[in-house]
Amino acid sequence: MIRVLVSVVGAAKPRAPHSTTARYLHSSYDVAVVGAGIVGLATARELILRHPSLRFVLLEKEQGLSLHQSGHNSGVIHSGIYYTPGSLKARLCVRGATLAYDYCDRKGLPYKRCGKLIVAVTGRRCPGCGRCSERGLQNNVRDLSILDAKGIREREPYCRGVMALDSPYTGIVDWRRVALSYGADFEEAGGTVVTNYEVNDIAMANESAAGSSEGLKYPIAIRAKKGEEVRCRYVLTYLGCSPEPRIVPFRGDYLVLKPDKHYLVKGNIYPVPDPRFPFLGVHFTPRMDGSIWLGPNAVLAFKREGYKLFDFNLRDFGDALSFRGLQRLCYRGVFIGAQVKLLQRYIPEISLSDVLRGPAGVRAQALDREGNLVDDFVFDGGVGGRGRPRAATSATPPPPPPPPPSPSGR
Ligand SMILES: Cc1cc2nc3c(=O)[nH]c(=O)nc-3n(C[C@H](O)[C@H](O)[C@H](O)COP(=O)(O)OP(=O)(O)OC[C@H]3O[C@@H](n4cnc5c(N)ncnc54)[C@H](O)[C@@H]3O)c2cc1C
Repeated sequence: MIRVLVSVVGAAKPRAPHSTTARYLHSSYDVAVVGAGIVGLATARELILRHPSLRFVLLEKEQGLSLHQSGHNSGVIHSGIYYTPGSLKARLCVRGATLAYDYCDRKGLPYKRCGKLIVAVTGRRCPGCGRCSERGLQNNVRDLSILDAKGIREREPYCRGVMALDSPYTGIVDWRRVALSYGADFEEAGGTVVTNYEVNDIAMANESAAGSSEGLKYPIAIRAKKGEEVRCRYVLTYLGCSPEPRIVPFRGDYLVLKPDKHYLVKGNIYPVPDPRFPFLGVHFTPRMDGSIWLGPNAVLAFKREGYKLFDFNLRDFGDALSFRGLQRLCYRGVFIGAQVKLLQRYIPEISLSDVLRGPAGVRAQALDREGNLVDDFVFDGGVGGRGRPRAATSATPPPPPPPPPSPSGR
């Protein structure tokens, strides 16, 4: 989720040559983007390409780019089947898939359009398959068709099912590679990337930066934990916005299929989503490196950026638990044996000895006060003194357009 804080708009400043790390602290920028995951990188890239005369900075707390969600995910290029028709997610996911394939083609980034089956294993779930198909058609997802048991076996010889929705347009890619490529484009266009900069506070300044003759032209002060400050006119960030929806961390643990069993899975195999549960259910995901991930399950994470089984941060955990919405959400951990049982419903040949514990990812899930998953992108103009100037400047030149979503469409 990206939220946008907007400050008073002044005239555009021609961009200076690429800043060095030493200089950035005393620099002012037209636009700052906080967080170099795929959303921040895609946004920064798109904005600098649309507004080449503005100065941009991307601030990232880690030493490298895309080390969190964007570097720990299933790597699927989703085609847009599940989302509510008319929602931003539905529209942007369908468009994002096409843009992602085009981008990879242009940059020579590898991907595989290996397709996806959403499989009903009992007659009871067949209506669910039909509903997915209807949704997909309403969302203009390409090339959807319904397969019977024989059609399923032709596509996935080891998969058992009575009916499936076939989405051949779904693919796989290494999203971190895509994100790093966006970063390279951004820098090539003159943007500045600053790592090791953990944003701690964003405030409206009431005096100009030390040694600056530009007055309050850059009124937003973005302060890092270590005391550095960057000034700008616009900032795209999550920090400092409305407290709702609340972001709750869910960790997804994957299993991996042992290499001698890779022949069991050709493309993505997903269950028909069960409306009683908030996540898609364990699925089979082939990866660009040839491995096959199974899962993920979805359990409340003990730590926002904790990828190991026992990573724990009391503040993150307490913060999530104290949120009433979460208390209403039903969640449960799933152990390996239970996960394998779920997988066997689709590929009966898989046994406990065929799988190993795999990697994990932590997903930022937005929840409302009632415990409902917030199922669409949320944009926020900011709160308090930082947000108000947006309304006050509505008659002045418009702010930069809202950021595009990650082409991952999630
Ligand atoms: C288990 C799992 C599986 C998934 N599978 C898929 C999939 O198959 N296909 C798909 O399209 N999507 C998938 N997703 C979703 C997708 O990975 C995310 O939607 C996407 O990566 C979100 O990108 P982001 O940039 O918002 O977040 P992130 O990648 O988490 O980036 C946020 C960045 O902000 C930085 N940051 C945080 N706080 C600060 C601060 N104070 N100052 C400076 N920097 C800061 C972080 O260090 C990080 O680099 C999956 C997610 C998970 C967890």
